Amino acid sequence: MKAAVLIEPGKIEIRDVPSPSPRNGEVLVKVREAGICGTDFAKYRGDLGGNFPVIAGHEAVGEIVALGPGVTEIRIGERVAIQPNFACGECETCLSGRGNICPQRVRLGLDVDGVFAEYVTAPQNYVWVLPEGLSYSDAALTEPLSVALHGFQKSPAAAGDRVLVYGAGTIGLFYVQLAVLAKARVTALDIAEPRLDVARKLGASRTFSSGAQLEAGREDFTAVYETSGTADALADIVKWCAPGGRILLTGLPEKASSVPTALITRKELLLQGAMIYRDEFRTALDLLKKGVIRSDLFITNIYPLEKLPEALADFRSPIRVKDLIRISIIGNCDPRPERGHLNKPNKTFFQATTKKKVEARMKKNDILAKFPPGAAGEHNTSGIS
Ligand SMILES: [Zn+2]
Ligand SMILES: [Zn+2]
Repeated sequence: MKAAVLIEPGKIEIRDVPSPSPRNGEVLVKVREAGICGTDFAKYRGDLGGNFPVIAGHEAVGEIVALGPGVTEIRIGERVAIQPNFACGECETCLSGRGNICPQRVRLGLDVDGVFAEYVTAPQNYVWVLPEGLSYSDAALTEPLSVALHGFQKSPAAAGDRVLVYGAGTIGLFYVQLAVLAKARVTALDIAEPRLDVARKLGASRTFSSGAQLEAGREDFTAVYETSGTADALADIVKWCAPGGRILLTGLPEKASSVPTALITRKELLLQGAMIYRDEFRTALDLLKKGVIRSDLFITNIYPLEKLPEALADFRSPIRVKDLIRISIIGNCDPRPERGHLNKPNKTFFQATTKKKVEARMKKNDILAKFPPGAAGEHNTSGIS
C-alpha cells in the first residue's frame, strides 16, 4: 500500500509498504479522508516524542475492510471515524474513567503507524460508526471537534458570557461555534485575517488580528478558550480576563512562559486544562450530521496522499485552516501477517473501555441536550453562505 512515512524529523516520503493486518480485537480500515493537524506538523518537525520511522497522521475516516480475531462489535463495510489515542485501560487514571490522560496512551501516527496510508488498523473499541447520510468529508473533522467538545464540557460558556477564543484555527473555530450556540457574545483573536473571516461567518461578533487591537477594544472576558499554543497566550489572557473569569487551555506551547500569577489570585481566575477527548466522538458525529456544527467553511484544501509533503511544508500558511488528504486506492488490499512494518505497540492496548460503558456514561452526561433542536436552524440562517 502507499503510505506517507516520516523517516526522521523534517523528512517525509511516500513509500510502498506492506499493508497492516488486524490483530486480536483490531479492525482494518481503508482510509478515505484524513485531516492534517498541528500535531502532525509538530511530529514532522521533531517537536514531539514517539517513534521514527512511522507512518504519520491520526485524524481519519474510512471503511472497515477486515476484522481481526475476537472482533464482535463491528462489521465489515461499516463507515467509521477513528479515535486515535488508545488508553491502556488498566492504570489508575484509566480505571477512574480518564483514559484521555493515561500516561501509557498509544498515539496513532506518533507511537504507531498512522492514517496517512491506504490502510490502518485500530482497536474495535476505538472506531465509531458514522451516522447514515454523513459524508466522509463532513465526518473527517470528528476528531478535532471532539477535542473542542471535551474542553467546552470542562468549561462551558452560556448566555451572558463574554467569550474570547484565542487562536482561530480548527479547534478555535469549533469553540466559536459552541459558544455562539450557547448564546454567548464571542470575540476571536488570530493573526490570520482569513480565519477571522470564517469566525465572523460562524457568528463571532468581534474579531481582532493582534493583542494591541484587542486591548484597544476595552472589553474583558468571562470565559476564554486558548487554542493557539503560543507561549505568551496565558499571560495575555490573565490580563484580559474579568474578575472571576474561567480559562480553558487546549493549546500546547513548545516553550515555557511567565505568567503574572498575582493576577490569577487577585481576580480569582479559574484555570482548566483539557486534553483530547473521552467519549465525545458520538456527540461530535451527531452534531456534524445534524448540521449544528459546520466544518465545511474551514476546509481549505483537499490533497491526494502524494502531496502530503508539500501540504506539511505549507502548514504555517496564514490562508489555510484545515487541509484534508483524500486517499484514492488503486488495486486491492493485500494484508500481511504483521501490523504495519515499522512500529508495533509495546503492549496490548485494546482491552480499554468497552463501547457499552461509553454509551452509559454519555447518557448520564449528554452534551446534545445543551443544544436544543432549534439551535441548528438559527445558526444556519445567521449569514452563513
Ligand atoms: Zn489532530
Ligand atoms: Zn491507562
